[in-house]
Amino acid sequence: LTPEHHPSSGPAELTGPAALKMEVNVLVVGADGVGKSALTVRFLTRRFIGEYGDLESIYSHNVTVDGKDVLFNIWDFPYSQDHSDENFTEEEKRIQWADGFVLVYSICDRASFSIIHQKVQVIKAAKEYLGLEKVPIVIVGNKRDLHHRRTVSSEEGRLLALSMDCEFYEVSAAEAYHGVLLVFHGLLDKIKESKLTTKK
Ligand code: GDP
Ligand code: MG
Repeated sequence: LTPEHHPSSGPAELTGPAALKMEVNVLVVGADGVGKSALTVRFLTRRFIGEYGDLESIYSHNVTVDGKDVLFNIWDFPYSQDHSDENFTEEEKRIQWADGFVLVYSICDRASFSIIHQKVQVIKAAKEYLGLEKVPIVIVGNKRDLHHRRTVSSEEGRLLALSMDCEFYEVSAAEAYHGVLLVFHGLLDKIKESKLTTKK
């Protein structure tokens, strides 16, 4: 037997069900221009490009988290499309597709912050209707580098997230990769937790 065929040569999980690669669907939600695409692209490529266009895309990308492969499917959905003629069931479908949600606002755009509360409610209502107890949602205040133009305080963001039982981060997709990484890893942890509790 070669080492890789010997049953005891590798970690146990390589042969058990845990070996199945984890796949998670993430929906990125937020007003136009808050940096949804910038955050997504930063997470997936570590880069910040500057301009992202306004196309709807689903990115599929393998990421190694804590030594394990995770396939992230990230649906970067332009807000304006959400409010076109589309019927309610399309949004409902996206919500059901997703295992977790990144709700983004810009710290220098109050209007973008004020829609977060309602978005969380819509998502929670749709998921809880199907019996999911704890919906994995991360609220992200982006563009932290533009602090001189800040109109939403960190405290407000934190309190909103606390009151809605969501995780909270303030980041700059433009300036740093690390904070963005924490957002997606934090969400992954929440998704793992929620899968454990719904399976029992
Ligand atoms: P989306 O409409 O939510 O997808 O927003 P985009 O990702 O397209 O970003 C909108 C604009 O904001 C672009 O010009 C980005 O370069 C810019 N942007 C995104 N994130 C940041 C950030 O963290 N800081 C700054 N200063 N600009 C950002
Ligand atoms: Mg975009």
